[in-house]
Amino acid sequence: MVRAEFDFWVGIVMDKFYDGLQNKQFIGSKCSKCQRVFLPPRNRCGDCFAKAEEFVELPENGVLKNFTVSNYNVTERRARKAKEPIMVGLIQIDGADTGIIAPIINISPDSLKEGMKVKVVWAKNVKGHPNDIAGFEPVGGG
Ligand SMILES: [Zn+2]
Repeated sequence: MVRAEFDFWVGIVMDKFYDGLQNKQFIGSKCSKCQRVFLPPRNRCGDCFAKAEEFVELPENGVLKNFTVSNYNVTERRARKAKEPIMVGLIQIDGADTGIIAPIINISPDSLKEGMKVKVVWAKNVKGHPNDIAGFEPVGGG
């Protein structure tokens, strides 16, 4: 019974997140005890294990905490030289205590800096899917 309840809640949390994306909105969840904010939302706090059932709307801006640049497109069979470097970052949205991983776009790899301000770029057609996040670009054109 506990297991079913747990699965049920996880479904709600992720539904909220994807519903948010469909509305071009980040929805996180907040710990009832230590007030940490999780994005993507989770039903329980990773720190104090209290319930994190309060949903909060978060802004489109954040900070690039970390990134990797690769010149190769890696598939299960081989690594191919990519036409353009592939940049992936860990972004901490303002007001959140955890980060999300997404592509970094509209900047040259040489200009990437940890701690730089970034803003989400939504996909042309949002569908409530992880791909709704086209990527993050520097605020002010980098
Ligand atoms: Zn907590």
